[in-house]
Amino acid sequence: MEIQLEKKIKFLDLKKQYDSLADEIDDAIRETIRTSSYVGGPNVKKFEDSFKEFVHTAFCVGVANGTDALEIGLRSLNLPMQSEVIVPANSFISTSEAVTTSGHNIVFCDIDPQTSNICVKDLRSKITNRTKAIIVVHLYGLPAPMHSILQLAKEFDLRIIEDCAQAHGAMIEGKHVGSFGDLGTFSFYPGKNLGAYGDAGAIVTSNTSIAEKCRRIANHGRTNKYDHNIEGRNSRLDALQASILSTKLVYLSDWISKRRALADIYREKLPPKLLLSAPHKDFEHAYHLFVIKTDRRDELKRFLERKGVETGIHYPIALPDLDAYTHLGKKNSCAHATQSAGRVLSLPMGEHLSNDEVNAVCEFINQFFGVKL
Ligand SMILES: *Cc1c(COP(=O)(O)O)cnc(C)c1O
Repeated sequence: MEIQLEKKIKFLDLKKQYDSLADEIDDAIRETIRTSSYVGGPNVKKFEDSFKEFVHTAFCVGVANGTDALEIGLRSLNLPMQSEVIVPANSFISTSEAVTTSGHNIVFCDIDPQTSNICVKDLRSKITNRTKAIIVVHLYGLPAPMHSILQLAKEFDLRIIEDCAQAHGAMIEGKHVGSFGDLGTFSFYPGKNLGAYGDAGAIVTSNTSIAEKCRRIANHGRTNKYDHNIEGRNSRLDALQASILSTKLVYLSDWISKRRALADIYREKLPPKLLLSAPHKDFEHAYHLFVIKTDRRDELKRFLERKGVETGIHYPIALPDLDAYTHLGKKNSCAHATQSAGRVLSLPMGEHLSNDEVNAVCEFINQFFGVKL
């Protein structure tokens, strides 16, 4: 029987989330405007304090966005110029941009096709005596294998940055991502698991000197108002965004639980051959995205679109294959990432969805593959 939807199944629904918190959000915005403290001040401090408590790190430095967080974080490590920094080949371009903009050289590392996260075996093979750091991405909200990565870091004396832009709330053995490496970076771009109403980001660390350096770089190299002992830049967390983020942070754990419950439905109802491998039992996936893989990706995407189901692709082109990186040459290509880019499809995921909607998506997909229900 043809299932017909009354309304679209949305990939993301920011309006619905706002409606559920409208009074609180409006109060927070009004309060910030009343106090007229727009740059720095109590709202920024309040959010930084609650976010560091959430992640369990000693420090949180609010910055303007997740890309700046990566760049400022990398700069704070004081690596020799032109160091090699290893970056996974499947990520958003911010991860690799930060390497170039801070004066270093990108080395791409392939992904594990079972998880789409960084492949530890390939990572080891990419380390040279010029390698000084690795930016690990907890892609789609799945923690990267930090234990093996930290071991490599120790063996080769490498710094670790965790790009947690997709992984608010993800954990390994109950410990939050962002608290394993030298520092962790977060984006609060509106569509992330914790999103602002514009751009925002943060760096978390438990290292005092990294925290101080990041704070200084993000605020013109200042120690005091006109005391600049280095040049920095302007990348501060906006106070209005901070007040919105503080309001939403209270609900984040519930939202992530909802994501996990929806992911369980997908895992139970979809053909196993479409699924990425289930997270290791000690890993808590934050399910920023629920990604499946199929050779018939484009066809399935169009089919779901006709049924009223919105989907996304993360990412359609692996980083080494982007025009921006052709100058790096063939040695930087990553076969698994290239292959995966043509097969991945991100299904609707988020606290805005009902179980019925996710069940309907599963039925459509099973219908597409001719699976009898
Ligand atoms: C969103 C994202 C970023 C960039 O964050 P912005 O706040 O948009 O600058 C960086 N890395 C990854 C993996 C992301 O998904």
